[in-house]
Amino acid sequence: MVKSVLVIGAGAMGSGIAQVVAQAGYQVFLSDMNEQFIQAGIAKIDKGLGRLVMKGSMAEDVKVQVMGRIHGTADIKEAAGAFLVIEAIVEDMETKKRLFKEIAELLPSETILASNTSALSITELAAHSGRPEEFIGMHFFNPVPVMNLVELIKGMQTSERTFSAAKEFVESLGKTCVSVNEAPGFVVNRMLVPLINEAIFILSEGIASAEDIDQAMKLGANHPIGPLALADLVGLDVCLAVMETLYEGFGDPKYRPCPLLRKMVKAGHLGRKTGRGFFVY
Ligand code: NAD
Repeated sequence: MVKSVLVIGAGAMGSGIAQVVAQAGYQVFLSDMNEQFIQAGIAKIDKGLGRLVMKGSMAEDVKVQVMGRIHGTADIKEAAGAFLVIEAIVEDMETKKRLFKEIAELLPSETILASNTSALSITELAAHSGRPEEFIGMHFFNPVPVMNLVELIKGMQTSERTFSAAKEFVESLGKTCVSVNEAPGFVVNRMLVPLINEAIFILSEGIASAEDIDQAMKLGANHPIGPLALADLVGLDVCLAVMETLYEGFGDPKYRPCPLLRKMVKAGHLGRKTGRGFFVY
């Protein structure tokens, strides 16, 4: 029997996750707060796969099959048969806690619960779900169809069975995982987001323009994308949430979010998703 997976949150990450999971042959239920968000996520996947067909790297009938495995649903109960839930909603502890409590009440006790959080405590989310042993951090990177890495984060009570099942699943998607013990920001974001934050300080101090900061890191450090363009891709709200988590989690002033980052988020300039961040799209 083909296994099914429930992905909650049909935004940038959730739609990408749903796409790669369906491409690997699983049935996918994609959920969000309402039908409009679900349909927007499905349309994004359709467009992404359409580009692959245009480039000749996917056959049209394969695209039709992949899309046929993705089922939008606003009702989590419809996905009761899923062996795994991947949560990719807004990066806010209280909202995620509420959602996991609801899921744990609706879905069978053996269902594995995974969060795609960028930096929040897996142990805290797990404890709150009431199913700490079946809970794991499954951190995909943006854009999901392109990026090969998934960080698998063990909370304090994550069982070995849950970890092995999650690893097997991630590998079945053709991705590579690294094993991480819970800590604020895990591995990648603990290094990457402070780098982005520092680039924003450099910009706000008038030391160099956004274009020159990005050019410097592309040509001087061989980064494929500059830190400010990366911030726009990730979403400035997500970058701020990660810095807040690092700052709070370690209590170390070296992680303080740059005031310009806060200001941009307050202005609603969140990067690519709103058409404007450090650059205009
Ligand atoms: P996004 O804003 O693009 O999408 C979030 C989606 O969640 C929206 O469609 C929203 O309607 C939905 N949502 C919010 N609350 C909900 C609820 N209670 N129930 C159901 N749906 C709800 O955000 P994103 O960039 O896709 O990020 C999602 C998660 O993935 C966050 O935890 C983020 O930190 C993490 N993440 C983001 C990136 C990135 O580069 N953007 C990378 C790795 C992980």
